[in-house]
Amino acid sequence: MKALMYTGIEQLELQQIPEPKGNFVIKVSGCGICGTDLKTYMKGHHFFKPPTILGHEFTGYVTRAPESSGFRIGDAVVVAPYAECGECTMCQRDLRALCRNKSFVSGGAFCEYVALPDDYRAVFKLPKSEHEQPDMQTYTLVEPFACVLNGVKQLAVGKHSRILIVGSGPMGALFALYFQQKGIPVSVVEPNESRRAIVASWDIDCHAPGEVDASQYDNIVIAVNKAELVDQYVKTIADGGTVLLFSGLKKEEILSVDSYAIHYRQVRLTGCSGFAMDDFHTAFDMISQNVSHYRRLITHSFPIEQGRDAFELLRAGKAFKVVIVP
Ligand SMILES: [Zn+2]
Ligand SMILES: [Zn+2]
Repeated sequence: MKALMYTGIEQLELQQIPEPKGNFVIKVSGCGICGTDLKTYMKGHHFFKPPTILGHEFTGYVTRAPESSGFRIGDAVVVAPYAECGECTMCQRDLRALCRNKSFVSGGAFCEYVALPDDYRAVFKLPKSEHEQPDMQTYTLVEPFACVLNGVKQLAVGKHSRILIVGSGPMGALFALYFQQKGIPVSVVEPNESRRAIVASWDIDCHAPGEVDASQYDNIVIAVNKAELVDQYVKTIADGGTVLLFSGLKKEEILSVDSYAIHYRQVRLTGCSGFAMDDFHTAFDMISQNVSHYRRLITHSFPIEQGRDAFELLRAGKAFKVVIVP
């Protein structure tokens, strides 16, 4: 099968490799490029050692399934790249995104076939009507959207909340689309003019940095990996507000934040990464209910042969979500 192999920093090669063996196999129809995939391509990553196949935001069709799975050949599905165990201390504390004993899909999905463990349960059948095939590309957004919903849980959104999203990359834009669908006032601050124009075309309030008074917002999501923004928004958010560090910073990065804001103004600083299965369920349901609302986030799709171009386009900041089609 064809596979887009990550062979080292800034290196992606189209290779022919054997199809994976197993009883539960998915033929990939599309896989979104995640911020983590891009970071790995640009700088390397301690989890993903080359040579390996990246990609975990995928949909496809079942080509082999064990009887016990409940799936049939030809079913259209979206697969969560991991699932929590439900039993460890983190799961028991209901911090399931932090599960210490997750089961994973082994191997990435920038390729034609992915094998799942026989007893893998984090697979969801896409709704299908008689005359319409499911929108396979839009459902690749379920995983990033699940991460966004895990982020929403860390916020303290109330009746009179106003949300500010800092950075409208794909994740920032997903946050904005979520709050828009929920009817909760949301604004976006983004330095890139063309991204701003696109977000504004979705009827989302969008500003250049410097045009925004952060004290008007009680929940601020930092969806861009710039350490200096953390203190800036802790200092300026409304009293009692919550700042969510959603974008990962370098592992060694030390933040210094305004203690006055935390002590006297009761500002909370929190963060998150990943998702739990209930986030994945909710993301799946919300996208199913309004496919076209989320569809606009996917601005490009590339055949796997042009996988490297897809990464480069994303790196240049010229796309929102890019899907690779094997
Ligand atoms: Zn992802
Ligand atoms: Zn667990």
